[in-house]
Amino acid sequence: AADKEKSSSVAKIKVVVRKRPLNKKELAKNEEDIIDTHSNSLTVHETKLKVDLTEYVEKHEFVFDAVLNEEVSNDEVYRETVEPIVPIIFQRTKATCFAYGQTGSGKTYTMKPLPLKASRDILRLMHHTYRNQGFQLFVSFFEIYGGKLFDLLNDRKKLCMREDGKQQVCIVGLQEYRVSDVETIKELIEKGSATRSTGTTGANEESSRSHAILQLAIKRSVDGNESKPPRVVGKLSFIDLAGSERGADTTDNDKQTRMEGAEINKSLLALKECIRALDNDQGHIPFRGSKLTEVLRDSFVGDSRTVMVSCISPSSGSCEHTLNTLRYADRVK
Ligand code: ADP
Ligand code: MG
Repeated sequence: AADKEKSSSVAKIKVVVRKRPLNKKELAKNEEDIIDTHSNSLTVHETKLKVDLTEYVEKHEFVFDAVLNEEVSNDEVYRETVEPIVPIIFQRTKATCFAYGQTGSGKTYTMKPLPLKASRDILRLMHHTYRNQGFQLFVSFFEIYGGKLFDLLNDRKKLCMREDGKQQVCIVGLQEYRVSDVETIKELIEKGSATRSTGTTGANEESSRSHAILQLAIKRSVDGNESKPPRVVGKLSFIDLAGSERGADTTDNDKQTRMEGAEINKSLLALKECIRALDNDQGHIPFRGSKLTEVLRDSFVGDSRTVMVSCISPSSGSCEHTLNTLRYADRVK
């Protein structure tokens, strides 16, 4: 009963915004910081033109569960987002943390440290609170690119997906590494990150068109019987989503780019619909909309938690993308 209480005290859906500092490029172009942040709200100052071409400022105010400004460290982001969820992963909860935003807004910067910090806490719990109880930690890391799955810890091997009838998603052939120390996890995260889609146009360009999914699974041997395969108890997924602006690449001249844009658009819309359905406790969750939501299916049923970190640039030049990101986050909340 105490466990149940602990689990229900963590919000089912949490939406957090993270604003990054102005970067050198933006400063060089004399771009202004147009975002004022408060503890759980923010104001965007959008400069617009009247018909007579004089400028005026329109203010847009948004309220979220938390707003993290440019001075907030990655440690604080962890404390605000994933840390409260870690203990309940041992109680059959599946949780997902997403980073959403335009390319260059800080998704990877925000997301990359989180699994390592979470693993550290998970291993600590396994070694103390849950000592000798047969819990094991597994790591996997894959990418969805153009609607296809690739294993980032196994030379980008192409993967396919299967559902086992018990609402468990199985990604056939996905490498899972059993880990028991932080150093190994760190190496796996580095390896997987380096294996993300990179094309001739440069790493950031290509990775902005893919969703990277790192999963930490806690398993346990049935009745302490080590000879049987361990069963999944809880799962924590970290998702570095494709650049939100890529969903608009649907009118590009290049066919490949257009198709990828359509796929990204579809997945980000489906994700929003799934989270909204979760929030309304609707029986029917529209997973089938995209590869991304199908893969996450088992993380949306049962006792699930979702944290959305919406990343934004502070600069005037990104105003339109920032407003799009905040409106998306606003619909999810
Ligand atoms: P995205 O993954 O959304 O395309 P990145 O995470 O790669 O964006 O961030 C773009 C650049 O901005 C990187 O050089 C990154 O180090 C820097 N950056 C992002 N967020 C922050 C932050 N909160 N503080 C300092 N630098 C940041
Ligand atoms: Mg990135």
